[in-house]
Amino acid sequence: MLANALSYDLSPTSAWEACLRFIEGKVGPATFETWLRATELALGDDGQARIQVPNKFFADFVEENFAELIREALIENEVVFTSLVFEPVEREWSAVVGPLAEEIAESIERERKAPQPAVGGKQMRFHPNYTFDTFVVGDGNRMAHAAALAVAEAPGQTKFNPLVLYGGTGLGKTHILQAIGHFAQTEHTAEKTVYMTSEEFTNQYIDFVINKKDSFSFYKKFNDVDVLLIDDIQFFSGKEGTQDQFFRIFDRLLRSNKQIVLSSDRQPDKIPDMMERIINRLKGGLNADIQPPNLETRMAILRKKAEFDGLNLPEEVIQYIAGHITSNVRELEGTLIKLIASSSFSDTGITLDIAKELCGDALSRKDERLSVRSIMQATAQAYGIGINQLSAHSRKKEVTLPRSVAMYLCKKLTKQSLRSIGLEFGGRDYSTVIHASKKIDAEMGEGGNAELQAKIAEIESLLVST
Ligand code: ADP
Ligand code: MG
Repeated sequence: MLANALSYDLSPTSAWEACLRFIEGKVGPATFETWLRATELALGDDGQARIQVPNKFFADFVEENFAELIREALIENEVVFTSLVFEPVEREWSAVVGPLAEEIAESIERERKAPQPAVGGKQMRFHPNYTFDTFVVGDGNRMAHAAALAVAEAPGQTKFNPLVLYGGTGLGKTHILQAIGHFAQTEHTAEKTVYMTSEEFTNQYIDFVINKKDSFSFYKKFNDVDVLLIDDIQFFSGKEGTQDQFFRIFDRLLRSNKQIVLSSDRQPDKIPDMMERIINRLKGGLNADIQPPNLETRMAILRKKAEFDGLNLPEEVIQYIAGHITSNVRELEGTLIKLIASSSFSDTGITLDIAKELCGDALSRKDERLSVRSIMQATAQAYGIGINQLSAHSRKKEVTLPRSVAMYLCKKLTKQSLRSIGLEFGGRDYSTVIHASKKIDAEMGEGGNAELQAKIAEIESLLVST
């Protein structure tokens, strides 16, 4: 009978303990402590083995990475079950996890690095999370996103052919390429969509054309392609043979109005050792750049990811992270993952304190070297005004607020006397500095001005990175 699913009269708890010992021997200690130690097993009447975890993010991660191992452990320990599910359960989870966040983030990063769609017959499998729905549009990527959506809706029928997306690492190029493939497939706007990285293209070219001398199979692969997506074409640099084949395929597809979308980490004509004729053809379509997200977009991305993972992410934490992690989206995600990992089993959930600890108060370590001048510089940059305006005598609001903020930060972060700070700001009196600092201070406490708090976090992160 399934209700008595266990042989040996074991309770689920002791059976699970035996399973955990088995699992412990097969994964690294940090992985075990973080992801598995605190999990629990419940057995349903229907024979379902339900592995209980603190939240949906955990459930997904454990399922993706350890389902097979857990299955093995259950069988090994003679637990009879019909199916295995991973279930988020709200309860007091005992805090067993140390800050192994770094390791976890790395393991997740490894998983995520490989959104390699399996080539199954004609259809490719695209990364399920990289869709247009999960992509946050902001000033930095608006054009790239719009063009990508347009070609996904009508491949080969827009002026954007080829479409080249270029920009720094971690800004969403692969995400958009995959989203196009996903869309074309689910909305049936194209029959055959192929995604590959330029390295895969190169390897296949070498494998078929050079080693097996079977160029026919290589070309055949692209014969009936409607949408060709090639990621990171900067790696074609210097590879003449590959470029030559790429050009032929690319040229033929373009002539028959098939859609080509490419990504590159820099503007195509800045890729060294790239054939002139390729560059020229790339100029014939649309080259759209992707810029790093601004503060608002970073906050929107965090909100979206939290929603997606079913997380309760306090607004102050969103502001803090978005203010401190400024370089790219991948890093933003990495920080969020670390945060989830280190707070999943704690009673308090995700708090500002944990976020601060994770972002490592990098600033406090640099305090010694901060000068009034560098603070003025960063503040001016964050507000998009000239540094001279801070010491000028304008009383326009666009200038007075940044000026007060800069004074506040100078008082807080440097060892300069109030008098010398005042002098740097166009010879103002020290009482002006006190007054400005007090005003900003009042808005920085709990329940204070969120926009201002985020802005100041942004300035601080600028200071850390300079
Ligand atoms: P790139 O290929 O440019 O190096 P990726 O496409 O791999 O960058 O993006 C890095 C990570 O950031 C991915 O997990 C991706 O989903 C996420 N990401 C990037 N931009 C956005 C965005 N605008 N909205 C949501 N997620 C994003
Ligand atoms: Mg990429």
